[in-house]
Amino acid sequence: MTTMLQVENLSMHFGGLKALDDCTLSVEKGSITALIGPNGSGKTTLFNVITGFLKPTAGKVRFEGEEITGLPENKIANLGLARTFQVSSIFPKLTVWENMLEAYPHQTGESLWSIYTRAGRIRSQEEEQIARAYGILERIGLAQKLNEQAANLGAPEARMLEIGRQLMFSPRMLLMDEPSSGVNPAMLDRLSNMILDLNKEGMTFFIIGHNLSFIMKLSTYMHVLQYGKLIASGAPQSVAHDKRVIEAYLGV
Ligand code: ADP
Repeated sequence: MTTMLQVENLSMHFGGLKALDDCTLSVEKGSITALIGPNGSGKTTLFNVITGFLKPTAGKVRFEGEEITGLPENKIANLGLARTFQVSSIFPKLTVWENMLEAYPHQTGESLWSIYTRAGRIRSQEEEQIARAYGILERIGLAQKLNEQAANLGAPEARMLEIGRQLMFSPRMLLMDEPSSGVNPAMLDRLSNMILDLNKEGMTFFIIGHNLSFIMKLSTYMHVLQYGKLIASGAPQSVAHDKRVIEAYLGV
């Protein structure tokens, strides 16, 4: 097994509060790794530090062997480590199609959308990205809604669009903050299948899960946080029977 993401002795303090306290964990290449823990245990803070949104008080983050601690968010995303948010980052006034093309950062800094709408010849690389955008929309079930304004999408569809936008970056690893929130049962199936398919194609996942039954079925490995500390790691079934994990969730 190859380690894709390594977090070493990571601490993040907000004043006197230790949101992360000397956390060491890794995510193996090709895995679907879950991050669980009671509310306020530091899951989102860990994602914020990994993706460069927060600079840690102490410790290191390595992605594919390269130290990425404190790098700007866009640099980390361009290295192949993307993230979806619990609250969607889509542009409500734009259509579904515009949202997809706006996600893709072209080398010139121009968005694919402006290239697409500009008169003149589109280069083959851009054509490929446009075809990719369409392929992703088919995958997330929104190909029929290209011209729909994003504001008119239901919560589950908006969530899928958010994921679709991140897939435009062709990430090798995707961090997802509670992907099942706001997703109805039919969409939840589609979401699970999509994650499993992408994983088979080689994408590694690190997923914050509040919906335990969803995340238990999906993940191949789990890390559990409590009060900013790692209290258990292992296969989902063994973690579910871990005494410390049960106590953390029951609050005893
Ligand atoms: P989780 O995602 O597991 O629910 P969080 O990472 O959001 O937990 O929060 C961990 C702790 O850190 C909580 O006590 C929260 O109130 C605190 N916290 C998170 N972000 C900040 C911040 N920017 N400033 C101060 N405290 C914060």
